[in-house]
Amino acid sequence: MSHWVPELLAPAGSLEKLKVAILYGANAVYLGGQKFGLRSAAENFTLEELEEGVQFAHERNAQVYVVLNSFFHDKDFDTLGEFIAKLEEFKVDAVIVSDPGVIKYITENSNVEVHLSTQASCLNVQSAKLWKKLGVTRVVLGREVSVAEAAKIKKEAGLEVEMFIHGSMCMAYSGNCVISNFTQGRDSNRGGCAHSCRFEYKLEGVDPNSGTEFSKNSFFMSSKDLEGIRVLPEFINGEIDSLKVEGRMKSHLYAGTISKVYSEALSYYKEHGDFLSDELKTWENELTKVSHRAYTNASLVEPAKADSIYDEREHEEIEYAAVGAILEVVNTDKNKYLLVEVRSAFNLQEDLELIPFRGRAVEFKMDSIKNVMDEDIERTRPGSLVKIPYVEGAKQWNLLRRRVEQ
Ligand code: SF4
Repeated sequence: MSHWVPELLAPAGSLEKLKVAILYGANAVYLGGQKFGLRSAAENFTLEELEEGVQFAHERNAQVYVVLNSFFHDKDFDTLGEFIAKLEEFKVDAVIVSDPGVIKYITENSNVEVHLSTQASCLNVQSAKLWKKLGVTRVVLGREVSVAEAAKIKKEAGLEVEMFIHGSMCMAYSGNCVISNFTQGRDSNRGGCAHSCRFEYKLEGVDPNSGTEFSKNSFFMSSKDLEGIRVLPEFINGEIDSLKVEGRMKSHLYAGTISKVYSEALSYYKEHGDFLSDELKTWENELTKVSHRAYTNASLVEPAKADSIYDEREHEEIEYAAVGAILEVVNTDKNKYLLVEVRSAFNLQEDLELIPFRGRAVEFKMDSIKNVMDEDIERTRPGSLVKIPYVEGAKQWNLLRRRVEQ
């Protein structure tokens, strides 16, 4: 018997990350075009890349949502119509919008489905009903609602709900932060956030209990990262339509690993109807292998408290780093090798791991590395193509990683 599970929605900061996320199990991806998205520094998609990305996704039954959640000024509407027409032509599955004016424009001038961005901070049934009236078919709820509240919103407002399940978090209500504007002159609501909440600040004040003055340095606004794998049963019971992973600016190793872990967990549930799996520990362990701060459930079950602040020295823990991606698998009687695009230099005899699309990582060591001229080399160079011995089960686009010495 097959059990219902939500959609897994992964970030696609680039065309390559889109492919990696889908091949590692994401059912849908979200991405930004060259304009109107909130990640101005991400490798946003050109129109050609967008068309290729949608085609790649649709061939694998995955959906593509395009982010248009920048805060709009009147002049931004001059080119919006042209852009929306292109998205319609490419058969993009939905756009993610926060501005009511933009929602009105798109619903009146196109047939593209509209999802409400988390930037709009929708947190209740009444608000969801209003957005539904405006033509929105799905709301990406603010990170401040619990899964139980989200389930109620879905049921009573009668529209799809999407919630974040993993990734970095804002300490402010999404869409209501201007710290970056004032500290760095960068508009966080138009793609320029400088992550000012992650900086170290000096706190000076008077202790209300003792009356003594204090002065200390602290990362008091930096949030831990969201991780909701243990909350999956609640998401499923609440029939939350889509589980979203944050991180368009993060690496392809992140896009692949997170997509793989959550999609394996959801597939397990689909087949067995529970998570009573020895794999749960493995999945949690895998989630520690991508760059992250300490993890928290944030407000998924109960409202986030002071312990959701990451007040250690601000850094991201990195246990593993990507060293390459497999561009071609050659497995014939005459030839057996993997053609690898090198991202980070690695050496002969180094211990590496191959991350298959499904199942546990495969450890291996290379007793030969060749360049594309078939000459033996001992160390690879980032950006080069090399041939390494065939690893059982390897597939095109599998990622290779190494453990980072702490
Ligand atoms: S500064 Fe921090 S809280 Fe504000 S928008 Fe940026 S990430 Fe979010």
